[in-house]
Amino acid sequence: TFIVFEGGEGAGKSTQLELLAEKLRGLGHDVVVTREPGATPVGAGIRKLVLDRESADDAPIGPRAEALLYAADRAHHVASLVRPALARGAVVISDRYVDSSLAYQGAGRALAAEDVAWLSRWATNGLKPDLTIVLDVDPTTGLSRVADRGAGHDRLESESLRFHERVRHAFLDLAAAEPARYLVVDAAEPVETITELIAERVTELLPP
Ligand code: C5P
Repeated sequence: TFIVFEGGEGAGKSTQLELLAEKLRGLGHDVVVTREPGATPVGAGIRKLVLDRESADDAPIGPRAEALLYAADRAHHVASLVRPALARGAVVISDRYVDSSLAYQGAGRALAAEDVAWLSRWATNGLKPDLTIVLDVDPTTGLSRVADRGAGHDRLESESLRFHERVRHAFLDLAAAEPARYLVVDAAEPVETITELIAERVTELLPP
């Protein structure tokens, strides 16, 4: 079973992902927690290339090259880690997947949605999550959460609030188009409420 968490900056994905993983492990499931970009050694190199640019003098990567780097990370991640884990019956929980590309590279950087969708399908050989959990956060709130904990990455400063609004709406549109495969949760709710809503939905998917 393949479960994905998606959402903007500061949505609380990592917190909820860990809580869900713990709960499922407690129920005896074999759980693999992973993320994009950067879950494998190859991916870690790609993540560093895209997100931690050391010199501001370098020519910007550019949206197409960036989309290909995320796709390369994803292709390797799916083939070397996600598919083998699913094949042995594990529950795989990923922090971000294809929808992040549709939202950030597509809606955010304004590449054509169908190109990003095609590239992602090709990279993953069509692997779709069984459930995608979108933690929906207003970008002003999310970004201030990230700033408060001193997290984030080099790229964040250069992205406008509008960029993050487009990303947010892309996630919501994807969820609205396929409600059976999505759970949208308001990330402004208390942590325990969110955990409860997620647990309810995952239990339908994975009866104890
Ligand atoms: O979720 P995490 O903080 O690890 O994501 C790192 C960053 O990578 C995000 O803030 C987002 O800006 C970027 N990203 C992206 N396109 C993807 C995946 C992540 O732009 N497909």
